[in-house]
Amino acid sequence: MPGKADRAYHPRVDLLAGRVVLVTGAGDGIGRVAALAYAEHGAHVVLLGRTESKLEAVFDLIEANTETRPVVVPADLEHASEDAATALYHAIRREYGRLDGILHNAGLLGPRAPIAEYPVSDWLEVMHVNVNAAFIVTRALMPLLGESADASVVFTSSGVGRRGRAEWGAYAVSKFALEGLTEVLADETAGAGRIRINSLNPGATRTAMRAAAYPDEDPGTLPPPEDHMGLYLYLMGPDSKGVTGGRFDAASWAGPP
Ligand code: NDP
Repeated sequence: MPGKADRAYHPRVDLLAGRVVLVTGAGDGIGRVAALAYAEHGAHVVLLGRTESKLEAVFDLIEANTETRPVVVPADLEHASEDAATALYHAIRREYGRLDGILHNAGLLGPRAPIAEYPVSDWLEVMHVNVNAAFIVTRALMPLLGESADASVVFTSSGVGRRGRAEWGAYAVSKFALEGLTEVLADETAGAGRIRINSLNPGATRTAMRAAAYPDEDPGTLPPPEDHMGLYLYLMGPDSKGVTGGRFDAASWAGPP
């Protein structure tokens, strides 16, 4: 059954034809489904994630069902560094010679605990994976994005990244930081008009992360990631050209203006 966004937006089948899109956390959950949707719409997808076997499974599905040319980049963003991001830049330039979009989707939930008891090591890990890695990767890839006539960067936010709630700790703070990164980068790139930067809150979605955050919830009551792909495709493709600095919510998105 199509979700609200899918009813509201009907992307062309070749929406992303020939484009190159990096998806982080592409092995599972929302990132996996977004990577498949991007490839189905013609994108060559750079599949980055920490579990190689999951990435390989996504790679195989894309190879079997599309004419696109994905690549697998096993990387644990807990160790994201300037050197690793520079290596990624060179690998993408060598493989494709271009980059037209990044979906920053990988995320760590971390412990649910009050700030006073939040373990410092978990805080640093969640902030590194969710925020620092997104900054480091984006910074390294900006030269490639700048060469695209029409590039899109999407940062994945959350409801608790727009309104803080007790015991969401570093996860919530990291999402606030991504909202800030979205605004700063959107302002910096607005003049040239070739790169758009937006944040996307998928909202409650049937994934492993949601199940970990709400163990008593019946996953069957939640929309699967597939229901949000209208918005994920809209923001990544040319139909959103000129849309920048926005905060999008998959649950309430009613389609393009
Ligand atoms: P999942 O936990 O299901 O998937 C997250 C993906 O990110 C996994 O493939 C995981 O890899 C990967 N990942 C996690 N840590 C790292 C790391 N250190 N290095 C590389 N990859 C990593 O999460 P969701 O699909 O639910 O979430 C996707 C995004 O959406 C996240 O940013 C999340 O915060 C956000 N979100 C989700 C909501 C929901 O209800 N599901 C609600 C609001 C926001 P592996 O498979 O190896 O674990």
